[in-house]
Amino acid sequence: MPDIIQLLPDAIANQIAAGEVVQRPASALKELLENAVDAGATQVQVVVKEAGKQLIHVIDNGKGMSATDARMSFERHATSKIRKSSDLFAIRTFGFRGEALASIAAVAQVELKTRQADSELGTMIQIEGSEVKKQEPFAGNVGTSVSMKNLFFNVPARRNFLKSNPVEMRHIVDEFQRVALSYPEIGFSLFQQDLEVYNLTPGKLSHRVVQVFGKNYQGQLVPCEEYTPHINVKGYVGKPEHAKKTRGEQFFFVNNRYIRSSYLHYAVSSAFEGLLQSDQHPFYVLFLEIDPSHIDINVHPTKTEIKFDDERTVYAVIRSAVKQALGSHHIVPSIDFTFDVNFNEKWDQDPSKKEQLTREHSYKTFNTPEFKKADPSGWERLFEGTNSDKSNQIAQFKQSDDDTEILTFSSKVNPDHRANSFSRSLEEEATGTTFQVELSYVVAQMSTGMLILDQQVAHERILYERYLRQLKLAQGPSQQCLFPPVLNLGPSDFALVIDMMPELHSLGFMVAEFGKDTIVIQGVPADIQIKNEKELFEGLLEQFKNFKSELSLDKRENLARSLARKSALKKGQKLTAQEMENLVGQLFACQNPNFGLGSNKSFVKLDISNIHSFFGNQHV
Ligand code: ADP
Ligand code: MG
Repeated sequence: MPDIIQLLPDAIANQIAAGEVVQRPASALKELLENAVDAGATQVQVVVKEAGKQLIHVIDNGKGMSATDARMSFERHATSKIRKSSDLFAIRTFGFRGEALASIAAVAQVELKTRQADSELGTMIQIEGSEVKKQEPFAGNVGTSVSMKNLFFNVPARRNFLKSNPVEMRHIVDEFQRVALSYPEIGFSLFQQDLEVYNLTPGKLSHRVVQVFGKNYQGQLVPCEEYTPHINVKGYVGKPEHAKKTRGEQFFFVNNRYIRSSYLHYAVSSAFEGLLQSDQHPFYVLFLEIDPSHIDINVHPTKTEIKFDDERTVYAVIRSAVKQALGSHHIVPSIDFTFDVNFNEKWDQDPSKKEQLTREHSYKTFNTPEFKKADPSGWERLFEGTNSDKSNQIAQFKQSDDDTEILTFSSKVNPDHRANSFSRSLEEEATGTTFQVELSYVVAQMSTGMLILDQQVAHERILYERYLRQLKLAQGPSQQCLFPPVLNLGPSDFALVIDMMPELHSLGFMVAEFGKDTIVIQGVPADIQIKNEKELFEGLLEQFKNFKSELSLDKRENLARSLARKSALKKGQKLTAQEMENLVGQLFACQNPNFGLGSNKSFVKLDISNIHSFFGNQHV
């Protein structure tokens, strides 16, 4: 029998390795950025086209390479960063595997230009699918420029697996942000097509955080520092009142390398204990300095995982550092956490927005509620003569054994006469005898007892079904904004909005692009009681991302939910009698009136027989 085992040709071996190193444009960007940082650059420019699918170009002013090194850099396992196995335990640079350039050149068309400070001429190399096409002298600036074109041009299957441009762009921005945060002393810029997305000037970490995330982070950063013999912690945590319901703004860097670790994340969140609601995540950018011999970063080629030889100590140090930071800045648990993203009190107090408040809104059903004291006689009337005329209809309320009732009604879009007439009867019954308890619950009288609605949960259900319908029919009435607000969203939110433009239009949002990462809101859904269109839209996005990270909903479902959550009545809002009646009527016109968006009940029914039994009376 002949021998059959052969070594793979380099081009194929590189392509296989590339599968691990370069999964998407963003992973190539990460490698190129890290090489620039490793080369000692002080200024790094990035240009991407088509979310990196067409081009990623990274230009640095680092130390450059000699002609021979430039050629070597594309060989697999070619690295200047480690020489012997013991170096593996003292890694201070980003790269060390010597795989990145070889992998990138295996699956893209790459052009490298590089020059060292002490040589007059540099080198230019073109390489495609691991094959060198050209190498010649090059006259240009000191430093290195790597342009990667048409990623996966020779692996169509991989190319087809890339996500839409907005999604890939979000990954690119994420990687860019991580590297930019870990090196605030280096200037970074990012261009998408010809638009400048970021231009980050060198400075302190706090300065960088504000440049990356926006001015409103200025007042919310609490410095966090702790030095121990084994490990140092430095960085910032966000004040609890700024915590968001979406994850994504939590950054750990170990020896300046971004890492993910749910264990360490837990160390931080446990330090916030009592300061945050369970679904909120604090902002943090924390740098751990630890002797490289105590960590192993060689667990995964993309190197965002890490092993510590003493995880518990690391946990304890982080937790105590964060606790101390919060303590020394007097952030004590007495802060009022009843504030919810959905509430508008803060905004209401802002006098500059007063004029918007006085604007007329086309929302008819839930116009600004006027204060109306609950009429004490309402209680008496509620218990007055339990007229049993409609008891046949009401009997459709089925009381199950475990005391939970499930009602099913057809909606008005999918009419069922029996159900609708029943809904109507309920609505009629409620007239005149509805009132609010604690400004949170609406009590409505029925002939066989009473209904208690959770106003927020019920309204969320009503709106959710309405928005879903609008999304299906692709038509939601819109009201024009008198002063169309302009919103600068930042690249990743901007990409998200562009991606769901058609759905936003169906809901009644008239939104248009307005320059770099910026949109203008020309109209909003007609039926929303708007106080501030900008706040509404930002809240919608926030809610959308929040649901997205928790539940895997499709886009429409998520949008309908998010807008319902954002625009529904809240607890604490006063309602007029008319509004309460509408609420009851509309809830029972829903397809599934029993629950809100989650498993919360939207109403409970207190049957007259229950009431009788409270007093030990027999129901006849
Ligand atoms: P690694 O970074 O793991 O060493 P790479 O494939 O990313 O492997 O790079 C191979 C080598 O090419 C590096 O070790 C470095 O010497 C050189 N190199 C790559 N990019 C640059 C750059 N931007 N400036 C200077 N040298 C570079
Ligand atoms: Mg590298």
